[in-house]
Amino acid sequence: ETRRCLVEERVRAFPDFPVPGVLFRDITPLLKDPIAFGAAIDLLEAHLKTSYPQIDCIAGLDARGFLFGPVLAQRLGIGFVLIRKKGKLPGLTESVSYALEYGQAELEIQSDAVEPGQKVVLLDDLLATGGTMSAACELMKKLKAEVLECLVLIELKSLKGAEKLKPFSIYSLLQYD
Ligand code: IMP
Repeated sequence: ETRRCLVEERVRAFPDFPVPGVLFRDITPLLKDPIAFGAAIDLLEAHLKTSYPQIDCIAGLDARGFLFGPVLAQRLGIGFVLIRKKGKLPGLTESVSYALEYGQAELEIQSDAVEPGQKVVLLDDLLATGGTMSAACELMKKLKAEVLECLVLIELKSLKGAEKLKPFSIYSLLQYD
């Protein structure tokens, strides 16, 4: 449909970034265009309202999940919480380490960010291998929150992130091979 096209037109591809062989999908033109950005938020809002009327909060992944999450949460009248790279959050935290292509990384959340039993949607700009999103699911498990869905603007299908995420479900606005 039209709104999806508006979004798609504002995603650029950069070959060989950040390393040779990677085709990087860049959402910065989307943020720069208020009509296209609005269309993306409209679509995500409509999806969440129909699929998950019981949602308690949105948890955004560092860093591009932070660009979409608060706006979307405002539309739904719910809160937004941060899942950050290690070492950025004060107070009591939980953390989960996960494998990157080279080495390891760690995601962290404040222990009181969500209550046990709360229904959370995880949000990021893009799903590639699913490693980052899986770590975020682990964090939710540690806080005993329920993950309703993993939500992204873009899914790189050939990297099979959806399989890695099972049994959690993934929803994406745009899909590429
Ligand atoms: P994964 O852990 O392999 O699924 O990688 C997903 C994470 O890396 C997300 O936080 C994305 O923001 C980032 N990422 C990976 N590839 C791209 C890309 O092509 N464009 C933008 N972000 C990317």
